[in-house]
Amino acid sequence: MKEVKSTCCYCGVGCGIIITADKGKIVAVRGDPDHPANYGRLCTKGSNLHRSAATDTRLLFPELRLERESSRQKLDWDEALDYAAGRFAGIIREHGPDSVAFYVSGQLLTEDYYIFNKLAKGLIGTNNIDTNSRLCMSSAVTGYKKTLGADAPPACYEDIERARCIFIAGSNTAYAHPILFRRIEAARQANPGLKIIVVDPRRTDTASVADLHLPILPGTDVALFNAMLHVLLWEGLADMDYIRAHTDGFDALKDTVREYTPESAADICGVPAKDIIQAARWFGGSGASLSLYCQGLNQSSHGTDKNAGLINLHLATGQIGKPGAGPFSLTGQMNAMGGREVGGMANLLPAHRDMANPAHREEVARLWGVNQIPSQPGKTAVELFEALRQGEIKAVWIVCTNPALSMPDQGRVREALEKAEFVILQEAYRHTETSPYADLLLPAASWGEKEGTVTNSERCITRLQPARIPPGEARPDWEIATDFARRLGSKLRHPSWQALFPYASAEAVFNEHRESTRGRDLDITGLSYRLLGEQGPQQWPFREGESGGQVRLYADGVFPTPTGKAGFMNVRYQKVAEMTDASYPFHFNTGRLRDQWHGMTRTGTVARLFSHAEEPVLSMNAEDMRLRGIQDGDVAQVSSRRGACTVRVQSSPEMQPSQVFMPMHWGSRFMSTSGANALTTPAFDPVSFQPELKHAAVKIEKLPYRWQMVALRKNGALAMLPRVQALLPGFQHASLGLSGQDEPVLVLRVAGDAPLDPILIERLDRLMGLDDPDATLRYDDARRGISKRILVDHGMVVGARLSGETMARDWLKEMMASGLPIEQIRLWALAPVNTAPAGSVARGKIVCNCNNVSEREIFDAIGKGSDLAFLQSGLRCGTECGSCLPELKRMLARGNRFSQMPMTKTL
Ligand code: SF4
Repeated sequence: MKEVKSTCCYCGVGCGIIITADKGKIVAVRGDPDHPANYGRLCTKGSNLHRSAATDTRLLFPELRLERESSRQKLDWDEALDYAAGRFAGIIREHGPDSVAFYVSGQLLTEDYYIFNKLAKGLIGTNNIDTNSRLCMSSAVTGYKKTLGADAPPACYEDIERARCIFIAGSNTAYAHPILFRRIEAARQANPGLKIIVVDPRRTDTASVADLHLPILPGTDVALFNAMLHVLLWEGLADMDYIRAHTDGFDALKDTVREYTPESAADICGVPAKDIIQAARWFGGSGASLSLYCQGLNQSSHGTDKNAGLINLHLATGQIGKPGAGPFSLTGQMNAMGGREVGGMANLLPAHRDMANPAHREEVARLWGVNQIPSQPGKTAVELFEALRQGEIKAVWIVCTNPALSMPDQGRVREALEKAEFVILQEAYRHTETSPYADLLLPAASWGEKEGTVTNSERCITRLQPARIPPGEARPDWEIATDFARRLGSKLRHPSWQALFPYASAEAVFNEHRESTRGRDLDITGLSYRLLGEQGPQQWPFREGESGGQVRLYADGVFPTPTGKAGFMNVRYQKVAEMTDASYPFHFNTGRLRDQWHGMTRTGTVARLFSHAEEPVLSMNAEDMRLRGIQDGDVAQVSSRRGACTVRVQSSPEMQPSQVFMPMHWGSRFMSTSGANALTTPAFDPVSFQPELKHAAVKIEKLPYRWQMVALRKNGALAMLPRVQALLPGFQHASLGLSGQDEPVLVLRVAGDAPLDPILIERLDRLMGLDDPDATLRYDDARRGISKRILVDHGMVVGARLSGETMARDWLKEMMASGLPIEQIRLWALAPVNTAPAGSVARGKIVCNCNNVSEREIFDAIGKGSDLAFLQSGLRCGTECGSCLPELKRMLARGNRFSQMPMTKTL
């Protein structure tokens, strides 16, 4: 047994984790009680991390495919990297450095990021390196730089406890940053006077705790912020002394906001003027207002303006650089901050230097010992894949990310990957939506297997230690890039290739990165691996000779701009890139769920993480559904001008009329169509180049289906997953998932109108072992359209397929997960019904994942008069990670209306 300190690899809260490993396996995790981000707490995703550490789904060896249609061959590392270097060198010689590109990830460690950036900009001489953080944080970067002068979040987590008003905009913190939400709940309990304002078109779990919820129309944030500034000025709540002493550019903005009266903004935003006035009064009058914001502001074609509009409010009230106050952008990914710090984006250079600045380029060239850094701007994410599609970029190296699911306008991105001359995918997992496009697969070490550092949302750097050696031949990402760089440098006869990549350890990479920060706003020259190991996580800046990092920035009112003053940005409301109209009348919004992460590459291997949301659903306003004749559980086709997907629909009190929401997580590995990004628009912000993933115009058409089918398989479900995934495109509508606690049950749900393809069903049966006549009970009733297959192994039910009616699905799935002897259901298995036996009920979705408490059990207890304390003491729900607390409160608020509340309806 060994224990090491690390962090959770999901969101930007950056919770500290202690990993327990035994005989080379990761067997447990618990929150690190000493880590300042979480003090021992973890949310559902973090507390299930050890369950995602199984190696069944990992990519274990380099694999190469010489022809697109052929199968891949296993290689050793020398063969793989020599081949990769040869292909890159050939393409660069023939077409120039800008004919290759790198697309990396906010999941990489800082050291990994540093090497890839140096490889592209220093060795090859191209700025074509961008990252999935472009989809996530780049508007926050430009918002900070345009106003405060540097990409540095000025606040810290402790400010949550010190704030007197928390203004949450475009963030469902309860789902996306759950441990911070626990801190908000605790702050509210400790300080009942704390005001919480939430700006979100949906009434999310986060909005449900707000004192004031502003359900603005999508994309209208700037109008709201300008109107709030209008009120602050009108009511004398602006801090004119602070504005005069520490800011520039106020007069122009003051002129602009004159026209943003609360009434005019109310028309634009769709919220009452009195609520805008109230929000401004609480914000301006609290004495300590903290803004928390995320993708609702960032993923927009005007994301920079939205960020700046909010920061304007802080500058106008002097609410920055002091306890409990400041504009605090919550980072989406574990190490989005680290990537920004090393300049791992097409327009950035190490240590917050700018590509467009000749002096910065010279400094970096000197630091790296190369002649120059190219001045030609690199392609940002959307541009990069478009250049690949157009043939301008010939080869792309994708690292630790899944663009065939996560990029907007999937049709074009997949076409780009199809057309590319050479695609390398460096991944920990064997199967992602992107892997079918890869010519060369390179196995990477993953969470719990690497040494390095990450930076969380509050500028806090944590050193990660490996708990086990990577499986198979997987290697740390920085090491793969270093090895490749040496081979490529030699092939290109680069004058200084031997000196450029001398690293023997992650620590050596960190030390070079540290030196690059000397004298910069994020100076970490006082840090070392030893100090981080001995003293734990530290915030930047942490300069040489200092004894600690800086908790808060700009307390002295001095900003990293040429004048030392912050600058107001004169922003005006602009419409979303794609307006709704008669053909596409719905506002389509995408986002995260509580228990899944990004494209489900990791969380999609953990059965428990499907128990809160089994499959993707389109959330829709009940009246909109009624008007279109759509009922809960119906399947609909959702289409935009770019593509379509089929998805089940569920009414949601969160949704306003004409707005729909679909989670971002599911893609073509878990659905018969591409997911939400089949529909999203590639339109991006002209400053940050971040695409507008939060809004598209769509239409919704109910799909008629005449039959349904469900197939379930226990024992080896994870290994079976990719083979069943390969069948999905053959069905009209299908979704795939896992169920159960520790022994997963694979669940395939299918619905359609056209007759079932018997060849497809035969293949499915063969794959799931349901074709074995000696082990399978069979029942067919063609007249009723019912058929059943029940697979038995050692007297236990381990597989099933029900066609026609599938009402027994949830009951059967739950029984199988907990162990179902065939004798218990033999009569039912041979009876002409596919409904569950009388008296048996399914538990429904699991609300409390930690203690396995279902929606039905909670509603039953509420029906008997339980309050929250009783739910917690009786059922124990909400007593561990706390991720379900907002939902429990919401269920309690419905109270005795239990009998009218439908259980989560399943197909
Ligand atoms: Fe991980 Fe949850 Fe902490 Fe985010 S809040 S870092 S997902 S444990």
